[in-house]
Amino acid sequence: MSTGPHFNPAGKEHGAPQDENRHAGDLGNVTVGDDGCANFSIIDNQIPLAGPNSIIGRAVVVHADPDDLGKGGHELSKSTGNAGGRVACGIIGLQG
Ligand SMILES: [Zn+2]
Repeated sequence: MSTGPHFNPAGKEHGAPQDENRHAGDLGNVTVGDDGCANFSIIDNQIPLAGPNSIIGRAVVVHADPDDLGKGGHELSKSTGNAGGRVACGIIGLQG
């Protein structure tokens, strides 16, 4: 929980990556293989690596359950996507 809430510099609701009304940090769901590994690449224009909203030093967090992308009708849908517990995280940095 030390990574904090979803990155939300514009003060919007939780949503899907393609939604206008979304937290900047809402990157959607990834698929995990039978071997328990997930390989993915995400390109997004709301999470810059420089400037006042830079995500350097912020975290990527993987949740246990599918993100309902703000559309599940659960009391947590508009804040977290009702995605369950946090199972993994990493800090975003630049190398080299
Ligand atoms: Zn969110």
